[in-house]
Amino acid sequence: MTVDVTRPAVVAAVAAVPKQLFIGGAWTDATGGRTFAVGDPATGEVLCEVADAAPADGRRALDAAVAAQEEWAATAPRARSEILRRAYEIILSRTDELALLMTLEMGKPLKEARGEVAYAAEFFRWFSEEAVRVDGGYGTTPDGANRILIMRRPVGPCLLITPWNFPLAMGTRKIGPAVAAGCTMVLKPAPQTPLSTLALAGILTEAGLPPGVLNVVTTTDAAGVVEPLLRGGDVRKLSFTGSTQVGRILLAQCADTVVRTSMELGGNAPFIVFDDADLDVAVDGAMTAKMRNMGEACTAANRMFVHRSVADEFAARFAERMAALTVGPGTEPGSDVGPLIDAAGRGKVEELVEDALRRDAKVVTGGTTPDGPGYFYPPTVLTDVSRDAALMRTEIFGPVAAITTFDDEDEVVRAANDTEWGLVGYLFTRDVDRALRVGERLEVGMVGLNTGLVSNPAAPFGGVKQSGLGREGGRVGIEEFLEYKYVAIPVRNRA
Ligand code: NAP
Repeated sequence: MTVDVTRPAVVAAVAAVPKQLFIGGAWTDATGGRTFAVGDPATGEVLCEVADAAPADGRRALDAAVAAQEEWAATAPRARSEILRRAYEIILSRTDELALLMTLEMGKPLKEARGEVAYAAEFFRWFSEEAVRVDGGYGTTPDGANRILIMRRPVGPCLLITPWNFPLAMGTRKIGPAVAAGCTMVLKPAPQTPLSTLALAGILTEAGLPPGVLNVVTTTDAAGVVEPLLRGGDVRKLSFTGSTQVGRILLAQCADTVVRTSMELGGNAPFIVFDDADLDVAVDGAMTAKMRNMGEACTAANRMFVHRSVADEFAARFAERMAALTVGPGTEPGSDVGPLIDAAGRGKVEELVEDALRRDAKVVTGGTTPDGPGYFYPPTVLTDVSRDAALMRTEIFGPVAAITTFDDEDEVVRAANDTEWGLVGYLFTRDVDRALRVGERLEVGMVGLNTGLVSNPAAPFGGVKQSGLGREGGRVGIEEFLEYKYVAIPVRNRA
C-alpha cells in the first residue's frame, strides 16, 4: 500500500493531530498559551506549533494522574486489557496516517515508519494479554504458624519520558505495561517528535481509556517541568528512555524521594564477525544493526570488530550494500535513508568521522555531507579505525560504520567489554560453542546471534552497566509497574 504524501495529504495529517496538552481527559492550552515549533528534518521547515508546558502545567497533569489512580487501580484487569486491545487495533487501522506523521517529524523512511507502527502496536497487544495474567501467591511459613498471602499492586502514578528516535514505540512500550498494571501516568515526549504521542493519546481515548489515566505534557523546558514533579513526592515511578547522561541526572533526582526507576539508556554495541561466520548473514546483519533508523538507535552497531582474515571481504561487501542505499526525504517512496534528527545530530556525526580520519581511518564509502536542505548524511563505512577514535567511545547515532580488526577471541571480548555501556552485542559465528561462550562473556543485556535485530515486544529489552536498569517488554515488562504486598495471617490449630 502506498501512503499519500501529496502536499494536501501532509497538511491534513498534521492538522488532524491535537496540538494542546492532554490533561485529565481534556485538551488544554499551556500556561500563557505558549507554543513551540515542530520541524521537518528533511526540509528544515516548520510543520506546526504545539503547546509548550510550564512547570505549573506539569503539576496539573500529575494532579490529574494522582486523582485518577485509586479508581483506575480498582478496574477489572479485563477492562484494562480490552482498552489496550482496542487501541492496538485502531493503531493498525491507521498505520498510514501514523507512519506519515512519524516520517514528517522524525525523518525515517515511510517503510521504516510503517514497521515502527506495527512494532509499537504490538506492545499494546502483548500487554493486553499480560494485564489478565498478574497473579500473587499463598504460602506457609516454615514453622507452620502463619500463612503468607502475596498480592500485586500497581506502583501508582508514573512519570514516563521518551526520546525522539522511536516516537511511537517508546511510548507504547511504557504506556502498555503501565495501563495493564493499573497505573496512571504523565508522559513527556521529546520536543522534536510530539505529534506521534499526541495522536496516540487520541487513540487511547477512543479506545476507552478513562480521563486522567494518561496525561501528555509537551514542553521545551524538560528539566523545569520534570524536576519538581520528581521531588514533589507524588510520582511513584519514573520510566525513562534516553541518553545515559540525562539518565544519571534523573537518577540523582529520584534518589532524594526514593522514586522507583526504569532506565533505558544509551548503547555502544559491539558487532563481532568471527572468521567462521557466514558472511552473507553477517553483511545482512550489519545492514540491519547499523542502518535501522539511519543508525539513530540505542541498539545500533557502534563498533564493528571483524576477524583479520575476513575483514577485507566483509568491508567490501558491506560497503557495496551501503553505497547502493538511496538517501532522500523519508516521504519519497524509494528512500532508504532519511535525514538525521537535527543540525546538532548531524554535526556530531561529522565531527566523529573527522576525528577518525585524523587518526588514519580510511573511507570506503560516504563520509561527505551533501549540499542542500535537510540534515542528510550518507551511509559511510570506515576501515582501519583506531581503537582510540572518539567514535569507538561515543554513540555515533548516524549511518556511519566503524570497522576494526581482531585476531583472537579473548582479545575481541576484552575490547567489546571495554566500555561503560552494555545494552546489546552482535555475534556472527557458525560455531555453537563459541556462540554460547562469547555470548555469556559479553557484558550486555541482549545478544543478537547471527542477527542484527533483537527488539521484540515479547522479549525483555534492556541493558547492564550504564545502559540502564530494568527491562521493557516480555513477561517482566509489567513487573516494573507492580509492587509486592504481603499479608501475614496467623492460623491457629484446632483445639
Ligand atoms: P535525551 O537527550 O536523553 O532525551 C530523552 C528525553 O529526556 C527527552 O524527552 C528529553 O527532552 C528529556 N530530558 C532531557 N533532559 C532532561 C532533564 N534534565 N529532565 C527531564 N527530562 C529531560 O535523549 P535523546 O537524544 O532524545 O535520545 C537519544 C538517546 O536515547 C540515545 O542515547 C539512545 O541510545 C537512547 N535510547 C535508548 C533506548 C533504550 O531502550 N535503551 C531506546 C531509544 C533511545 P528534551 O529533548 O527537551 O531535553
